[in-house]
Amino acid sequence: MLARIKQFLGIGAKPKEVPKEEVEKVAEEKAKPRIGYVHLSGCTGDIMSLSENYDILAELLTNMVDIVYGQTLADVWEMPEMDLVLVEGSVCLQDEHSVKELKEAREKAGLVVAFGSCAATGCFTRYSRGGQQARPDHESFVPIADLVKVDCAIPGCPPSPEIIAKTVVAVINGDMDYLQPMIDLAGYTEACGCDLQYKVVNQALCIGCGTCAMACQTRALTMTDGRPELTSARCVKCGICYVQCPRSWWPADRIKQDLGL
Ligand code: SF4
Ligand code: SF4
Repeated sequence: MLARIKQFLGIGAKPKEVPKEEVEKVAEEKAKPRIGYVHLSGCTGDIMSLSENYDILAELLTNMVDIVYGQTLADVWEMPEMDLVLVEGSVCLQDEHSVKELKEAREKAGLVVAFGSCAATGCFTRYSRGGQQARPDHESFVPIADLVKVDCAIPGCPPSPEIIAKTVVAVINGDMDYLQPMIDLAGYTEACGCDLQYKVVNQALCIGCGTCAMACQTRALTMTDGRPELTSARCVKCGICYVQCPRSWWPADRIKQDLGL
């Protein structure tokens, strides 16, 4: 997988032999996008997943983009203008600071990306009911698209390191073909494991491949008689089962291209 990403990044399958000149070439040819990171009601798992790109991370973050804002990435307190902002976490409607920071990010960023399922679909913060110290009034957590316009969503709890890296590179290259499904997903905010039943099985689209069950990180899905079966008490509403299902929306031509089929 890593070799494929490196190939996609244009730095070859053997990075130790190649990368510097290639990366410098990319850096010279492409203007560096100014990227910010806003951390709302999330667990930092999404940014941790980004960091798990290991040996391509330095090239990605230092040579291909400028990190201009983000409490865990840059020592900057005033939010600057940004080409793209990654927003992690859902937004708590009773937290004035979070609401203000999200709205400011929308004003100052060209593209707002819902980064991870909490931002994209609400994920397990959908179950928040308040009543806990020190802020029992913090009870309503919603996907960021409920409050501001979102341009692109990368669901996942967390999204894989590969898809984060590829998305950043697609933004740099203006690869709309790659980004289009994620642009479409910006409207997928009411996620649930039951989507498979309603939108795939009931529509006679399911091929029984089991991808949904494999993708579910809480094992809320099992395959019964060749079809997915949901244990709803385990579902955290991340939406990744539906996103990964090959019969939901993912463009087959692009998968073939990426896999070299
Ligand atoms: S991933 Fe989609 S097609 Fe495959 S078993 Fe699940 S619902 Fe059916
Ligand atoms: S069934 Fe699993 S993958 Fe699907 S939304 Fe629920 S927790 Fe997420």
